[in-house]
Formats: sequence, C-alpha cells, structure tokens
Amino acid sequence: MRCEHKRRTRSAEYPGLTLWTCRDCGFVFSDRWSGGFDPKKLYDSFYDQNEIVGRFHSPVEIVIRLFRLFRAFKIWTIRPGARSILDIGSGRGFMLYYLKRFFGYRRAAGTQISRGACEFSRRTLGLEMYHDDLPECGLEGGSFEVVTLWHVLEHILDPEGYLEEIKRLLVPGGRLVVEVPNFLSWTKAYTGLDWLGLDPDYHVHFFTPEALTAALRKHGYRVRLVHTFSLEYSAFISTQSLISKWTRTPNLVFRALQTAGEGQGQGKRPERVRMGRTLPLFAALFPLCLIANLLLFGTKRGEVLLVVADSPAVK
Ligand SMILES: [Zn+2]
Repeated sequence: MRCEHKRRTRSAEYPGLTLWTCRDCGFVFSDRWSGGFDPKKLYDSFYDQNEIVGRFHSPVEIVIRLFRLFRAFKIWTIRPGARSILDIGSGRGFMLYYLKRFFGYRRAAGTQISRGACEFSRRTLGLEMYHDDLPECGLEGGSFEVVTLWHVLEHILDPEGYLEEIKRLLVPGGRLVVEVPNFLSWTKAYTGLDWLGLDPDYHVHFFTPEALTAALRKHGYRVRLVHTFSLEYSAFISTQSLISKWTRTPNLVFRALQTAGEGQGQGKRPERVRMGRTLPLFAALFPLCLIANLLLFGTKRGEVLLVVADSPAVK
C-alpha cells in the first residue's frame, strides 16, 4: 500500500541537494535522507534554545500566541462542534490549550518528540502528551474527531504511513487538517535554494496540491477543501525567500525571530549591520507579498498548502 519511491525522476538539483519526484506517488523527496535518519535525535532539543527559554515577554511571543489562538479558531470553523483532537507535532501546545479553554474541547492531545516542548505542554499547559513518533504512541483507534498536522508532514520519512495511522485514529468521518509548504509556490522556482519552504536540513518530503490530494484519496479520504494561503506563513515565506536571494543573506530575519528571546542586539556587529539594511526592505516588501498571496488564495501557486479531508464514513 505504501509507496517506497522506487521509480523516481530528478526534480531539482541544488548545491549539495538533489530533489526527486516519485513516479508512483507523485511526492517530491530529498536525497539527504536516503541513509535514513533518527527524528528523535534531530528534534530532541529543537525547542530548547529558541522557543521555551527566555522568549516569553518578547513581542514575537505575543504574535505567536495570537497565531495559535487564530489556529484554534480555524479548527473550530473547520469542524464546529468537535470535542476531541490530536495535534501531531504539536509545538509547545498552545493551539490545543486554546481549543480546550475557549472552544469546548474535552480531549486535546498532542505528540511531540522534542523533550522540552513536550514537558512544557504537559506541565505548564496540562495537556495530554505523547513523547513519541506517531506510530509508537499506542493510541486507541477511532478516538479523535479531528487530527491536525501543521507543518509536520514534510518532516516525515513515511508520510503515507502517517495517513494510514491517522485514518485508524479518526472516528468514522473524522476530519484531517494538513498544512505544508506548497511545492508549486510562486516564489519557489525563482528563489531556488533560498526558498524558505525548502528548509533542507529538516524537510524530507515536498507536496504539490495534486500529489497530496491524490495520496489522501488513495488512502480512502474524501478531500473537502484545498487552498494555498496562510495568514501566518504565506507573506513571510515569500518576503524572506525573495530577500534571501536578492541580498545573499540566507533567512536573516527568520533566524533572528527564532532566537528573539536570547537577548536582542547582542549579536555580532556585521550581523546587526546587515539586519539594519534588511529590515526596511523586508517591511516594504511584506505588504506586497501579502497581497500577492491573497490573490493566489484559491489557485495552486500560493506559498502554503492547506488540505482538509474526511476519513471514510464506514470502517
Ligand atoms: Zn513514492
């Protein structure tokens, strides 16, 4: 049932990175992981330096919390009346926390292989957490009305295995929400290795709207909604990717945001000077990229791909 990407054609060649398209499943994948990899090792301390420690009073943190609240609201609009959710790769757990607190959810569970984030969700937010890769969590079948994957599926070595396991975990007719970078994005071909959605140190698979919806149908899901806009990510990815290419400063603003709590202004002087030059350009370009992405909402060319699908009504 699962594709092993045996028949492949070269999709793109960058310095140090080759992407392949599988002729069977249509997914694009990176050659960097052909020797296999240990996700637990890669992500164990992923949140420790930059998200949990030190960031809580920064303006960046306030914006992130608002986006997580908005994400919870989005889930409520996608499946009003639902009371149980599993968020796979649940970050620090704020969306789940808000769903419980404001949207009537009785069960809000998360999986998180990053130890610090998992502990934070469990202890500080009081969430039901599984510190494991999804297939090893031992969750009971048919127990969730909603399952979400926010920018997680592109990190997974076996996305089809995940789709199968999620189908088992959902109640009949339960709803799956998947968001990933859109491999057909309007900036991707032009910015190449500078495309923020590529993130080659972490991303294993890449998805076009066709390939992802075809995979969902193959595994028995009914696709309900496809669009390519995200308020949180779209304009940011476009702006950062274009600026990385034009100024040859890869992901300067993105990296600064990730470490925003570690004491601003204490970076090295050349970095601060480059930042001073980059920020005005970023601020000028951002609204234009937001408009471009809004116009691309219903097309296949927006920066971020969102798919909502239902598991089979009868098991
Ligand atoms: Zn394949």
